[in-house]
Amino acid sequence: MYNCTFCKIIAKQIPADVVYEDDQLLAFKDINPAAPVHLLVIPKQHLETLSDCTGEHAELLGKMLALAPQLATEQGIAVKTAPDGQHSGGFKTLINSGPDGGQEVYHLHLHVYGGARPWRGLG
Ligand code: 5GP
Ligand code: ZN
Repeated sequence: MYNCTFCKIIAKQIPADVVYEDDQLLAFKDINPAAPVHLLVIPKQHLETLSDCTGEHAELLGKMLALAPQLATEQGIAVKTAPDGQHSGGFKTLINSGPDGGQEVYHLHLHVYGGARPWRGLG
């Protein structure tokens, strides 16, 4: 067991507002949301950072990314397309990697941000 906040959330040793769980992935609300909807998607396997990933992790990384639109739909932040082709709604996905990438928690995670702007510090 790693001394890792997100591993402790997976092990239910730290509470979190979980929105999705399967045998490989967990998704929960960020404790300090930067947008009206701010979720984190993590693998249950402790991988520190995207820099540790190779082609052998492609399926897991694909599952993490593919979960984002499902969660976005459930959270009401999916992209909508009107009959005239105009888009509305939508979300941002982000993986911070290492100090220069702004990573603070060293358990791989995919941020999913959405909801009405402005968002804090996200452009
Ligand atoms: P990073 O900068 O590493 O990409 O982002 C880490 C994120 O994890 C931050 O947005 C932070 O608010 C969130 N976070 C840190 N500790 C906890 C925690 O104990 N519970 C939850 N739900 N989120 C956390
Ligand atoms: Zn971990």
